[in-house]
Amino acid sequence: MRLLLVEDDKMIGEVVLDLLRSEHYAVDWVKDGDMASTALRTQTYDLIVLDLGLPLLDGLSVLRALRARKDRTPVLIATARDSLFQRIEGLDAGADDYVLKPFELDELLARIRALLRRASGRAEPVYEHKGVCINPASREVTSNGVPVVLSAREWAVLEPLLARPGMVLSRTQLEEKLYGWKDEISSNAVEVYIHGLRKKLGAELIQNVRGVGYMVPKE
Ligand code: CA
Repeated sequence: MRLLLVEDDKMIGEVVLDLLRSEHYAVDWVKDGDMASTALRTQTYDLIVLDLGLPLLDGLSVLRALRARKDRTPVLIATARDSLFQRIEGLDAGADDYVLKPFELDELLARIRALLRRASGRAEPVYEHKGVCINPASREVTSNGVPVVLSAREWAVLEPLLARPGMVLSRTQLEEKLYGWKDEISSNAVEVYIHGLRKKLGAELIQNVRGVGYMVPKE
């Protein structure tokens, strides 16, 4: 899953960036509203963590522009504890949820998981499909009840596919889930991780859709 972190406070940004990366999210971090707008017009994200008080363009304007384009990417706003009005304004402008600063890091992660779950159209916190079960909170994976150990990047490829069986993701879309801007991308990385996943979880789980990409078949 690829996230955009919009935060101008260097200390908070670094802590949140480290945290999200340690949870295997690919993260791009921008520090002002203009850069956020540019990033959102040029990249696809699974979720945005949006600070409201930002240089150049405030977070609410970024959010309103996003929703005006009918972009439904989940937005989690980060606001100060005492700013009830900002929270209400943010939710009314199209944010999906908010966290209070200073963050409780575990709460931030739980809210992100909840929004990603809802965005994938699921209510249940664990994804289960054809005997393969993944738990985004605990990062546990089982195949027919047997625990399976995945690398961080195998997880990053499997999660978006398993979240929406029947939906085809292109190699580029999967690469976007794996890498932030500054990461080196090796040309056959996605194939390598798919190969690893098939070895661990069975050859049938992930199908090639010729010329298009990969999917976990619905039936
Ligand atoms: Ca700020």
